[in-house]
Amino acid sequence: MTTLAEWRSRAASLKLRNGLYIDGRFRDAAKGGRFETVNPANAQVLTDVARATAEDIDAAVASARRAFNDGRWSGKSPAERKEVLLKLAALIRENVPELALLDTLDMGKPISDSTTIDAPGSAHFFQWHAEAIDKLYDEIAPAGAGNLAMIRRVPLGVIGAVVPWNFPLDMATWKLAPALATGNSVVLKPAEQSPLSALMLAELASEAGLPDGVLNVVPGFGEDAGRALGLHPDVDALVFTGSTKVGKMFMGYAADSNMKQVWLETGGKSPNLVFADADLDQAAQMAAFGILFNSGEVCSANSRLLVHRSVQEAFTEKLIAATAAWPMGDPLDPATRMGPLVEKTHADRVAAYIETGRNEARLVHGGERKTRDGSDCYIGATIFNDVAPDARIAKEEIFGPVLAVTPFDTDEEALTIANSSEYGLAASVWTKDISRALTVSDKLHVGTVSVNTVDALSAMTPFGGVKQSGFGRDLSIHSFDKYCALKTVWVKY
Ligand code: NAD
Repeated sequence: MTTLAEWRSRAASLKLRNGLYIDGRFRDAAKGGRFETVNPANAQVLTDVARATAEDIDAAVASARRAFNDGRWSGKSPAERKEVLLKLAALIRENVPELALLDTLDMGKPISDSTTIDAPGSAHFFQWHAEAIDKLYDEIAPAGAGNLAMIRRVPLGVIGAVVPWNFPLDMATWKLAPALATGNSVVLKPAEQSPLSALMLAELASEAGLPDGVLNVVPGFGEDAGRALGLHPDVDALVFTGSTKVGKMFMGYAADSNMKQVWLETGGKSPNLVFADADLDQAAQMAAFGILFNSGEVCSANSRLLVHRSVQEAFTEKLIAATAAWPMGDPLDPATRMGPLVEKTHADRVAAYIETGRNEARLVHGGERKTRDGSDCYIGATIFNDVAPDARIAKEEIFGPVLAVTPFDTDEEALTIANSSEYGLAASVWTKDISRALTVSDKLHVGTVSVNTVDALSAMTPFGGVKQSGFGRDLSIHSFDKYCALKTVWVKY
């Protein structure tokens, strides 16, 4: 296993790409602007990155449009596109340590996660979508003799993709893999906190044989680069993962410009329902995972724990014990399971929620903010018990390692509390009673229910939400729907 000292030495010599990637090459921003990207583990500047503004977005969209219109990628057969994307998956696998290191340095996730989950996950998702694309058949409608009515799936054109910082490489991949597999061109705007892995990915895509202009990566800020992409008249669809507030802005941008399709994956406040008959030990281990993995910076984090009152105290004790398996520390240390939060302003926000929680409920574990290596972005596992369902910490997305525990007395009450959220991304259910598990699953108003596990996820199954968690689905065969139009061609004969 690579040691902390070895990771530090690799980090010191790591190549950091910091230009805009347009038309197959790195370049400066038209206005020459740059912004610093900071390592939240030690508050040190990693590099300064070219900062895209509207002029650069115009250039990137024009490049993507040229590439789409001349067919250099859109005109290739699915099998040809598959070959390139499989090559990209292989290149990602060869470069797992570098890609993982870029995400860890940029946003603080533990290297033990970025090397085993994020970077290999990116390779897997590209491979899965590549392998699927030449196995999807078009349709012929039963239009009767003398008619041939073909229903064909065609790429939309230029896709704008705007992604967050919590899984920088994987969120980009979830959009790029199906968008590119279906023959579109893409302009990707990574989050300003974490642009580095997407820039390396673009370079690897070119090395794999993706023609110039098909994938453009434009780091920059939301209010200028993101907004310009959202308002651009020549973008056919905008796919977004991020906060509900910004997701709504994209619907406005589409309405104010060319009515581009907008697909949103937004916030969550996912409930984890623990019934009295559950395997409480297993449920406690996984409940800890559900709120502490990626320091709780997960859209589908199980941030509300609803537990049957008869086991409330016993379960909470087990849960507190389970947090011991989540040491916080230097994200480059392979033993670390929780790194710093992404940036100071976000840590301030999470700390403010903890202060709110102290007035709303009973703090039973954690709640402290720590400083190490010059960074005060470290917040450990924090658990509030006896949280009223309408408390702010039970309703609002905190996006940190802060869990709200609420007791319930009946299955109906558990469901009412679980569903009383503006969000509907995911939920977990713990019970040994299969009938209860399925009945409760039926009634949970969410995109994914995990029974006797938390946050189940795979390339094979759709991921996304209902209500203000968004619409449309990433992953699985269904993800292709966002990137294609159905085109009908009638032939009379
Ligand atoms: P964010 O909404 O602040 O930023 C996301 C992206 O939008 C970034 O690239 C940002 O630059 C851009 N952006 C910000 N303001 C903009 C504006 N005015 N116009 C255009 N673009 C703008 O979200 P974040 O803080 O980066 O990420 C955390 C959020 O993402 C959480 O709410 C989380 O639940 C959500 N998320 C959802 C999913 C999902 O699949 N549902 C997955 C991961 C994260």
